[in-house]
Amino acid sequence: MRNRKIKEMSKIIWIVLFFIVSVRVFAAAENVCLPQEPQIISKTQDNMLLIYDIEDASIFENQNNLYFNVIKDALLAVGISEAQIYNNPSYPIDLAMKFYATKKDPVFQAEAKNLTTITTKNIGVIRKVNTLESFLYTQQIKHFPLTKETKSSEFMAYILKKRNIQKQQMKIVLFLSNGLRFKVDTAIVKQHVQDGWQLSAHIHNHPFYIRPQEGLDIGGVIAPSVSDVQMHRVLVASYGLENAIITNGLFSIEVAGKDFDKL
Ligand SMILES: [Zn+2]
Repeated sequence: MRNRKIKEMSKIIWIVLFFIVSVRVFAAAENVCLPQEPQIISKTQDNMLLIYDIEDASIFENQNNLYFNVIKDALLAVGISEAQIYNNPSYPIDLAMKFYATKKDPVFQAEAKNLTTITTKNIGVIRKVNTLESFLYTQQIKHFPLTKETKSSEFMAYILKKRNIQKQQMKIVLFLSNGLRFKVDTAIVKQHVQDGWQLSAHIHNHPFYIRPQEGLDIGGVIAPSVSDVQMHRVLVASYGLENAIITNGLFSIEVAGKDFDKL
């Protein structure tokens, strides 16, 4: 008799739990709120500069990352293998190290030394890409689609925040490009910092690119390169950058501004 009662009670508890979980999943899906269209500051065939005004930065939190599958499908379509990379964020780093080890070029040796320091000193935290980073990546591939020929392109985003009484406002200054290593004019960022905005993060991507002729793919490395370290140091010193984030679309590394002193 007692056992039956316990069984019935546990059944009810399970039903209630299922109900709570279902409501929360449904609410999370309903809660998705997308940023409004950006201001287009400049646009050429090769570059775009956009600014997003976001009333409440929390729209990127606590929601399903709807953009993730868009990125994954785009990467798979250009030959990035899910089996190769999806479950192992260190895989691109290991490949890059192997690649550098075969090269005598001082540029590659400097990159190898930098990467060794980052990994041995445990600089930064590697985690799955978040909604904000995925959103930015989807803007990059929307304007400069990934194809087998143009799979190497980068964006750079400056995430500015300002807290008012109730919420945190966000501005995203987003540079999109159809190439790599482009120079950006940070005058807009400087102006915002002077107006009291905090440079919360700098986010850019490291694209996957395949070098079949060398039998290696050294793209998608989730670590700051030698030139990234220099760029981020300047941003920390000039604008008080809090975090540097590098994503390959699947995983990201987040490095605190002060950690660049250790490199
Ligand atoms: Zn970089």
